Amino acid sequence: MNYLIETIGCQMNVCESDWLGSVLSTYGMSKVSSLSDADIVILNTCSVRYQAEQKAFSYLGRAEEFRRQNPEIKIVVTGCMAERLGLKIKQRFKSVDLVVGAKDIDITALKIIDLCNIDAEKQEELDTHSDIVRYITIMRGCDNYCSYCVVPFVRGRETSLDAEIIVKKCSLFVKNGAKEIMLLGQNVNSYQYNDVNFTSLIKKISTINGLERIRFMTNHPKDLGDDLVSVMATEPKVCSHIHLPMQSASNKILKAMDRKYTYEHYLELINKLRNVITDVSITTDIIVGFPGETESDFEETLKAVKDIRFGGSYVFRYSPRPNTKASELVDDVPLEEKKSRHAIILKESNKISVEIVAAMVGSVQQVLAERFENSVIEARTRGGRKVFVKDGTGKDLGKHLNVVIKEAKINSLFGNIA
Ligand code: SAM
Ligand code: SF4
Repeated sequence: MNYLIETIGCQMNVCESDWLGSVLSTYGMSKVSSLSDADIVILNTCSVRYQAEQKAFSYLGRAEEFRRQNPEIKIVVTGCMAERLGLKIKQRFKSVDLVVGAKDIDITALKIIDLCNIDAEKQEELDTHSDIVRYITIMRGCDNYCSYCVVPFVRGRETSLDAEIIVKKCSLFVKNGAKEIMLLGQNVNSYQYNDVNFTSLIKKISTINGLERIRFMTNHPKDLGDDLVSVMATEPKVCSHIHLPMQSASNKILKAMDRKYTYEHYLELINKLRNVITDVSITTDIIVGFPGETESDFEETLKAVKDIRFGGSYVFRYSPRPNTKASELVDDVPLEEKKSRHAIILKESNKISVEIVAAMVGSVQQVLAERFENSVIEARTRGGRKVFVKDGTGKDLGKHLNVVIKEAKINSLFGNIA
């Protein structure tokens, strides 16, 4: 039996799809990448923005159309939108066989196996994926209730997963060939399992022999402590990249977003990170058009983008989400204005990114070779930039390479082994 997983949304969803796929594989199911080869299609959804849900609806429309010609194919919807809308999805898309919400992630595989009449007695066996980079969820849910965000409603309360189990899973990944681990949570800084906090978890993971790199996301500026900054500066396995969502640089808007920090505090963190971590790359999320965002609030955010010079920015247009505190506010920034502010920030941020990568041409970067496809190595710098290496071989996979950067494009670098 063949399964296809389509994933919409963040790295947490990618991680959960990856995990779901590995469980299904232990039950003898095979992963495919096209609808026409699939016996079952699983759509892992996101509710964070209005557009993400529209994307899921449009995918379901196409899958339903496909099902008319192939009535035996099964359709499953999982993730945040499944949690939020539940059986309403089945009412709208009659051909959906199963809806399993994000809070039931642990039993999703069993429900799918049951749907496909596969012998559920077979035990989940050891994960044998051999990817060089593996993702692992270290905490679920979120307690922060930023006023715009639907995550606490669809993912539930914040729970940190057992530290010992996380370390064991990481060791297993490394045994199976992983060289880099990405730790995932909505706010990794508040990880706490018994007496293990996030920094001590990183220290434990860094002792795994054969593991070369550790990354993590997402960090919340209100909880980023000196201990983490210091471990980033001193532990060689921890990559010099941090994703630190700013959202806005206007204190009025940050307060209305319930982010619990000021722009001045955010700036202090940036300076601290840059002072102690060599070549640190700082990326961010920004929301434009939050209710009440005036032209001058927006100008403050634009100025911050110019001053801070992020390594990369994800810029979003605010969309009201159900149940959130902000959804009770008047969504008073017109759509055209949101689009225009979005384009202005993106243009500035892209200009800065181009300048940053252009300055890397001629430098030698240490990269980790993650994939080998069409005779090209796809690798990543410690700061998280993608590098395509033209003269590598399959034997370089999983190795650190020193690469001379010859060419730079906004989202990727190109080079040769030094
Ligand atoms: N937990 C992370 C944090 O605190 O930054 C990120 C969670 S969220 C999945 C990813 C990003 O989506 C947020 O940082 C925010 O910029 C954006 N986002 C969340 N809700 C949004 C909304 N209602 N409208 C537009 N963007 C939104
Ligand atoms: Fe959403 Fe805020 Fe939690 Fe991030 S920290 S998931 S933005 S509520």
